[in-house]
Amino acid sequence: MTNHIVGAHALTKHMESNILKTSQEAKAAKALDPAVIDATVGMLNREDGNMYKFSAVDTLLKELSDPEMYFYAPVNGSKAFSEGVLDWVLGRNKEAILKQFHVNVIPTTGGSGALSNTIYNFNDFGQSILIPNYFWTPYENIAEEANLKVETFQMYDEEYRFNVADFEIKAKALAARQGRLFFLLNDPCNNPTGLCLTTEHWRQLIKVMNEIAAQDIPVVFLHDIAYIDYQMKSETESRDVFNAYLDLDPRILAVIAFSGSKTFSMYGFRIGAQIGLTKSAEVIDDFRRVGDYSVRARFSSVSRPAMSVIGKIFSSPSLRAGFLAELAAARDILKKRIAKFRQYAQTEHLQTLPYGGGFFIGIETKNAHIFEDLVADGVYVVAMPGLIRVAISSVNMDEIPRLVSTLKKHV
Ligand code: PLP
Repeated sequence: MTNHIVGAHALTKHMESNILKTSQEAKAAKALDPAVIDATVGMLNREDGNMYKFSAVDTLLKELSDPEMYFYAPVNGSKAFSEGVLDWVLGRNKEAILKQFHVNVIPTTGGSGALSNTIYNFNDFGQSILIPNYFWTPYENIAEEANLKVETFQMYDEEYRFNVADFEIKAKALAARQGRLFFLLNDPCNNPTGLCLTTEHWRQLIKVMNEIAAQDIPVVFLHDIAYIDYQMKSETESRDVFNAYLDLDPRILAVIAFSGSKTFSMYGFRIGAQIGLTKSAEVIDDFRRVGDYSVRARFSSVSRPAMSVIGKIFSSPSLRAGFLAELAAARDILKKRIAKFRQYAQTEHLQTLPYGGGFFIGIETKNAHIFEDLVADGVYVVAMPGLIRVAISSVNMDEIPRLVSTLKKHV
């Protein structure tokens, strides 16, 4: 019994590290003083500071019929969207995967909806999920909302290589302790570090997960691919990691969280997908059953206009080709900015974490007041324990020299 207005399970909820709030502060500061550098935003901006809008998306949005715009979206997605997202995400691995796997697609409210649905349904309350020590902070909130905790493994070894050995130690210990492993990783283009794993890394991770599953311990891995289309590779090559999935033990459930916000710059529309893959017919039935239930129970269905537009791009070869060209141009913006950032970082001896693509560069720091120190010099970044996240996606080329020298001054 409690006499508190808030339910007992919600008493401890506090949004401490609110990335969106920091971003709003930065925006307000820049509105007052254009010299402020806002490197907080998880959106891709053009050089003029406006969001990178895809003309394919913009044109289609304006041409939607009333049903395509206003009707409820089908809970399981339109054929064009749900089949298209599989092609889009798995690329040239799709055929090989479909030969061995049962697959189900559930449209969700952004990648966030896919993350929260999966985390909620595939853990017992009170358990912990395993994530790297540098992570997108909402993971902790999504876990807390599902009555879960997070445990971490070291993302890097001493030479700043991805630390599979520490993953193995932590995963096996957690699985033995709680009789379940739920592993969540944002890859490629990790937020907040910029890390991209190789297919060989994924093979090693899957080998560890298979060893755990072989002990009849349920293993679920949630692969958050929010920034997959912004890796410094072609979209064909960025899908190569899925080849490693072929090694998965039949008892394992893999869930891919796809974000329409990032791939299509449709941030405000709230669309994404939860893609379940497993070699077990029984497991995919469970995935579909609990996933559909949670969609209906939590948000009913997703944005119809976004589903209509994305479905059209997925299913029309000419629209798709045009969109891919725009996506390549978006990557080029990031490519140019990262090249300039690296050039100045080298001159200033500013050490960054290895960057393979995406919106963010990670820089380790021991300065506990880094956020305040940078703000005093007119630079906004997102600060996390031991790390700052610099959104290369939201600064322009001219800002980079001062950004780098200010970062160097305070890290
Ligand atoms: N995962 C990561 C790592 C992200 O950075 C984001 C957005 O910032 C998401 C998932 C989900 O984004 P959305 O819910 O807008 O698709």
